[in-house]
Amino acid sequence: SFQSEFGYTALPMRVRFGIDVLGQLRSHIAELGIERAIVVCTPEQRTVAESVLARLDDRGAGIFDRAEMHVPVEVADDAVRFAVDRGADACVVVGGGSSVGLGKAIALQHRMPIIAIPTTYAGSEMTPVWGSTRDGHKQTGSSPSVLPALVLYDPGLTTTLPAELSAASGMNAMAHAVEALYAPDASPIISLMAEEGIRAFAEALPRVVTDPQNIDHRTRALYGAWLCGASLGATTMSLHHKLCHAIGGSLNLPHAQTHAIVLPYSMAYNESSAPAAQAAVRRALHTDTSAAVALWELTQSLPIPHALTQIGMTASDIDTVVEQALRNPYSNPREVTEEGLRGLLQDALAGRRPT
Ligand code: NAD
Repeated sequence: SFQSEFGYTALPMRVRFGIDVLGQLRSHIAELGIERAIVVCTPEQRTVAESVLARLDDRGAGIFDRAEMHVPVEVADDAVRFAVDRGADACVVVGGGSSVGLGKAIALQHRMPIIAIPTTYAGSEMTPVWGSTRDGHKQTGSSPSVLPALVLYDPGLTTTLPAELSAASGMNAMAHAVEALYAPDASPIISLMAEEGIRAFAEALPRVVTDPQNIDHRTRALYGAWLCGASLGATTMSLHHKLCHAIGGSLNLPHAQTHAIVLPYSMAYNESSAPAAQAAVRRALHTDTSAAVALWELTQSLPIPHALTQIGMTASDIDTVVEQALRNPYSNPREVTEEGLRGLLQDALAGRRPT
């Protein structure tokens, strides 16, 4: 049935999408009135950052290549000092969620526009959410000042993303869209984007992993990443994200893989309590049975771990995760109970077909 009451806030950002769209960077920078931009990346992506710096030409102010998972505050502080020393008035981030996260930490402390050039499917470039870690404790928040002013999606930059990481990152993105479909602040507008994002990944991911260099498949997947990221940026996440946060935070497990493994089970938990979301996922996955089973079957076809035990979680960790996941209440289509969470985690630990 049609959702007859809803709100929608358009986020103020410019997006350019396409092969070689990176070639437009210099003209966009000039149009935005930026004079000296630093480039932020992980150590592994230094080479691509150098090509971005070259595109900035006389408006480039150097590369800070120390982005890493979870944005440690020490790294963020050094990055801000680097930006100040170089007289930077903008920050160009190239990479996945870790690089975008560091750019956001810089912008939060030292106001400057972010230009994001995503090379994974994480979707952070589409959200006002930031996070940083001090002494192992992750703090997150939301601020319009960390929303990129410009996002350049260039599928050519994603062909180097290994098949395993592409698959896990794509499932991570699909999880944003699934939760946007049943979010407390869902809207028909965002649901359109979310469903189309899931569809794009369901079609593209199996092809991306068998033919990672194929630009058509990469283009479709990156389009999906944009839609799923935008769905994340516009809504409040529920059980799946809270649970993955609890697993990732307490056990320090890899982010995208954790999301990829858990998604079929969080869908199984919520599916019958969220019929509109269930219908949208079924349409996107071309199935008329269980959305959870269809997601699980998709993961089985991808070169990713399929059970939480495969990435280092054990049955003895369940107590810690359940306790963390129940600490703060949040909206979810189905009531989140200790018993329900234990069942979900046992299934995800074993990687068994969801029921
Ligand atoms: P990531 O950014 O840590 O990247 C993973 C690895 O892949 C890195 O070593 C990176 O150098 C490499 N890499 C990235 N793109 C590549 C490419 N095209 N070719 C080859 N190697 C490449 O991982 P991620 O999954 O993109 O991001 C995860 C992080 O993002 C988490 O910390 C998560 O919390 C955060 N995140 C935040 C938001 C938000 O809204 N704030 C949203 C999603 C994710």
